[in-house]
Amino acid sequence: MLNETNVNLGKVRSSIRELFEYGKKRKAEIGAENVFDFSIGNPSVPAPKEVEEALRGLLNTDPVALHGYTSAQGDLEARAAISDYLNKRFSTSLNADCIYMTCGASASLTVTLNALCNGGDEVITFAPFFPEYRVFAAHAGAKLVALESGETFQPDIKKLERALNENTKAVLINSPNNPSGVVYREEVIKELCAVLERHTLKTGNPVYLISDEPYRELVFDDGIKVPFIMNYYKRSIVCYSYSKSLSLPGERIGYIAVNNEMEEFSDVYAGVLGAGRALGFVCAPALFQKLIARVCGVTSDISVYKKSRDVLCAALEEYGFTAVKPDGAFYLFVKSPEADAKAFSERAKKYELLFVPGDDFGCKGYVRISYCVSPDMIKRALPAFKALADSYKK
Ligand code: PLP
Repeated sequence: MLNETNVNLGKVRSSIRELFEYGKKRKAEIGAENVFDFSIGNPSVPAPKEVEEALRGLLNTDPVALHGYTSAQGDLEARAAISDYLNKRFSTSLNADCIYMTCGASASLTVTLNALCNGGDEVITFAPFFPEYRVFAAHAGAKLVALESGETFQPDIKKLERALNENTKAVLINSPNNPSGVVYREEVIKELCAVLERHTLKTGNPVYLISDEPYRELVFDDGIKVPFIMNYYKRSIVCYSYSKSLSLPGERIGYIAVNNEMEEFSDVYAGVLGAGRALGFVCAPALFQKLIARVCGVTSDISVYKKSRDVLCAALEEYGFTAVKPDGAFYLFVKSPEADAKAFSERAKKYELLFVPGDDFGCKGYVRISYCVSPDMIKRALPAFKALADSYKK
């Protein structure tokens, strides 16, 4: 008998991928320019020129070393560059041995959850959340507990307090958030950390705070601060990815940073090494590890996303839709004009508009519009949005 869980996982696509595949089919039928595909978070801004220059430079180095295995946890130069960069930016005292190089945020999360969790553990997150969290947590033997948020999509700390119990192993946050674009405010993060500290003191059960950060650099407005969790909580682990910040989603590169201020640091880091080993996630792509060592701190031109956010938010508001204005990332979470967001998403297809119902993000009654598409497509899509809005007024 096969592993039924994995067979079933392989048979059912995520709602994002389902719609993305529909979009590909539809584009083949009526022409790509006639489909307004807002389904997936694939950056439309190219990787910055520093990436191309660094890649060219690397291609002139010894090819055997360039393409060879690195240490399981990653190339020392890359890990040292990342820890130095984080120390400068966030006043931490990390070193290369706090960093584990990964194939993007998905691998960072899978490895971290497998390092921390035993069967029966619970991982708390806040809706709306990235749907793959369910899969990652289940694979680590843990149950994902999703707490609903209010209309601002900031974590509800009172609900967190009630949800914590002796099985809670970790709290998983994602800010700037996919799909809401909201940045969790510093005062909320402070409260959240205080609640976790109190829980650990009272019960003796340490709870880890995992921060999933593919969108850390994608913040559009001055004065919006993305709190770096290691500055607030010792038992913290950052799961980073360069997929969005450097527009390199296909290259599969990111890292895990384990806070060396926690007492049991060496065991947690060993757990990360062990989980990486058990899952076969050793030695992330060598060429891109070496690239990261040369471009740490560089970000794609995010001004394009900011303009797209502003254009789309203004137009949608004018047509009568409501959404919380995103602080960052490149998603807009729009309230469905009918209770059933799946029906809304289906109706949108008639106007060749593709966006994902919020149900799989743990938030019914909303759809996610992924606006990391070309500004030209957004402009051409506006009449379709208007027609869709009007169809609800008739
Ligand atoms: N976490 C969040 C919140 C995401 O939005 C994504 C991708 O869209 C991932 C993790 C996975 O990122 P990666 O492509 O780096 O594996």
